[in-house]
Amino acid sequence: MAVLRRRVFEPRPPHEYTPDIAARDARRIAETMTLRQQPLDAIGLATSIGIGVELIPLESNISGFLRKERSNWKIGVNSLHHPNRRRFTVAHELGHYFLHRGDGDFEDGILFRKEYQTNRLEREANEFAARLLMPSVEFRREMAANNYDISAVAAAFGVSGAAAEFRSHNVDNEIPID
Ligand SMILES: [Zn+2]
Repeated sequence: MAVLRRRVFEPRPPHEYTPDIAARDARRIAETMTLRQQPLDAIGLATSIGIGVELIPLESNISGFLRKERSNWKIGVNSLHHPNRRRFTVAHELGHYFLHRGDGDFEDGILFRKEYQTNRLEREANEFAARLLMPSVEFRREMAANNYDISAVAAAFGVSGAAAEFRSHNVDNEIPID
């Protein structure tokens, strides 16, 4: 009997990626795996790339981490945070995986604090996550449909108000690619 295998997706090496291209590739993987797109099934996406996701109770100022344990990549996410916040955390850690794996382990605090704008790796991981969860075309559409009400837009994408606010600040400076 023929054995059907799920195709294993191998993202490109990190040096070939910018946050926008990586986010586009990641969405393509999610589409191919027929994962829910909006709100995006971020945990399903991580799993389909072979990254284990573990919900762990962590200090309230820790969002999550990415690390390699033996030969397996693992994302940890703070189980005490709201599911919408956890979705962005998983997407942020996926950003580190696509863009920075091999640069060491990452442990993340509060993702919208100032240091996340000034540190290149953190800025890139946030940019990846924002583009992955809230692609520009869809984001603009939801903004218009919801009368620019950030909390309604956040709910539509299953993210926190802070994440939607963050996206609203950078989406206008961006040439839509998706
Ligand atoms: Zn980070």
